[in-house]
Amino acid sequence: MSWALGCWTLAMVAGACWSRAVVGVLTAASLALWLGAAGRGALSPTGGLEALMLGLGPWLLAAQRQRHERRVQRLQAKEASRMGRLQQRSRALRELEQAAQHTEAEIAQITELYHVTKEAGRALRIEELVAAVGECVPPLLQTRRLRLVVQGRAGEPAIAWRVADDSHGELLPWEQAVVERAAQAPTAGRVALREVNPAAPAGTETIAWAPLRTEQGVIGAVLVEDLPADRVETLAIVADQLALQLARVRFYQVVEAMAVTDSLTGLFVRRYFNEFAAEELRRSHHHRLPCAILMVDLDQFKAKNDAYGHLVGDVVLRETAQLLRQNIRGMDLVARYGGEEFICLLVETDPQRAMGAADRLREVVEMHPIRAYDEVLRQTISLGVSCFPDDGTTLQDLIARADAALYAAKRAGRNRVMRWAEHRG
Ligand code: GH3
Ligand code: MG
Ligand code: MG
Repeated sequence: MSWALGCWTLAMVAGACWSRAVVGVLTAASLALWLGAAGRGALSPTGGLEALMLGLGPWLLAAQRQRHERRVQRLQAKEASRMGRLQQRSRALRELEQAAQHTEAEIAQITELYHVTKEAGRALRIEELVAAVGECVPPLLQTRRLRLVVQGRAGEPAIAWRVADDSHGELLPWEQAVVERAAQAPTAGRVALREVNPAAPAGTETIAWAPLRTEQGVIGAVLVEDLPADRVETLAIVADQLALQLARVRFYQVVEAMAVTDSLTGLFVRRYFNEFAAEELRRSHHHRLPCAILMVDLDQFKAKNDAYGHLVGDVVLRETAQLLRQNIRGMDLVARYGGEEFICLLVETDPQRAMGAADRLREVVEMHPIRAYDEVLRQTISLGVSCFPDDGTTLQDLIARADAALYAAKRAGRNRVMRWAEHRG
C-alpha cells in the first residue's frame, strides 16, 4: 500500500509539474499498486471511491496547472503586445524628436539666411555687401575662410574680397584656378585644393565654390576653404542670395552714376561730391585758401535699426541728413558717402573754424529729438576732420585722413569730433 501511496504522491507531483504522459503512467501505476495491495476490498463502494480519487487527483491537478499555464501564457502574450506597442510608440517618439531637431536646425538656418538677405539687402556698395557677408555668412558656413570673387566690368580685372583677413585685390593664381574650375561646373562643388592647383599654399585641404549666377549670367563666385561637406548645399543657397544682392549693388552703382542726389536723404551722392570737391580743391590750391573735409558717421546706428526696424532707421537717417544740411553754410557741400556715413566739404575754412563747425553739427544732432512713426529717438554722430593744406593736399588723402580721424573718434567713445593731426598725437 505504501508503494501505491508513494506512486500516487509522485503522480500528484507530476500533475503539478510534469507532462500528461508521466501523470498517466504514474496514475496507472499507483492504481495498479493500490489494486494489488487492496485486493478484493477495492471492489467495495468505498474502495471504488478511493480508486476514483486515486485516479482523478493527479489529473485534476494537471488540468488545474494547465489552466493556470494557459492563463499565464495569455497574460504574457498581452504583456508582449503591450511592450510591442510601447516600443513602437517610443520609436515613434524618437523619430519625432529627431524630426523636431531637424526642423529646429532648418529653422535656425532659415533665420540665419533671412539675416544674410536682410543685412546684405541694405548694402549700397560692394564694400558694405562684403561687410554684411563677413558678419552674417560665417555662422552659416561654420568658417570665416571665405572670399567673394566679383568679375570686373568693361575689361576690369576680377576682384577677390577676402573675408578672413579683411583684404581685397586681384586674384591669386590659385584663386584664378578655382574660379576657372567653378566656371566649368554647373553648381556648387568641393574638391581637394591640390587637385585644382598643385602650387596652392599649404594649410588648406579642400576648396568649395558656388557661382554667383544672375539673369545676365555668372558675375562671380564664392570660394570657401575647408567647408564642412554638409554645408555645400547651404553655400549654394547663400550664393544665390548674394548673387541677387550683388546684381542690385551693381545696378545701384549704375543708377548712382547717373544720379546727383540720393533718394533717401536728398543729399548729393558720393560721385557728385568727389567731382565737386576735386574742383573745389583745385580752386583752394590756386587761391591758397584753406578748406576742410568732415566725415560723419551715425553712432550705434545698427542697434537702432535692430531695435526699431529699418523704416524707423531710414527716418533717423533722413532727419540727421537734414540737420547736417541745415547747419552748414550754403556754399559748403554735404553728401551721403555710404550707408549711414556723410561727408562735408567746408570751403574757405581754416582748421579752427572747421573744428568749431564740426562740434556744432555734433551738438545739433545730439540735442535734436527725432520723431519717427511712434518713436521719439535721440541720435549722436561722430566726426573726423582733415584740413587742407595742413593734413593733406589731395582729395584722396584728405578723405582717408578724415576717415582715420573718424575711426579714432569712434574708438575714443563716439559722439565726438577728432582731427587727423590730433588723432596722430
Ligand atoms: P558705429 O557707432 O561704430 O558706427 O556703429 P554702427 O552700428 O553705426 O555701425 P555699423 O557700420 O556696424 O552699422 C551701420 C548700419 O547702418 C548697418 C546698416 O544696416 C545700417 N544702414 C546702412 N544704410 C542704411 C539705410 O539706408 N537705412 C537704414 N535704416 N539703415 C542703414
Ligand atoms: Mg555708424
Ligand atoms: Mg558706418
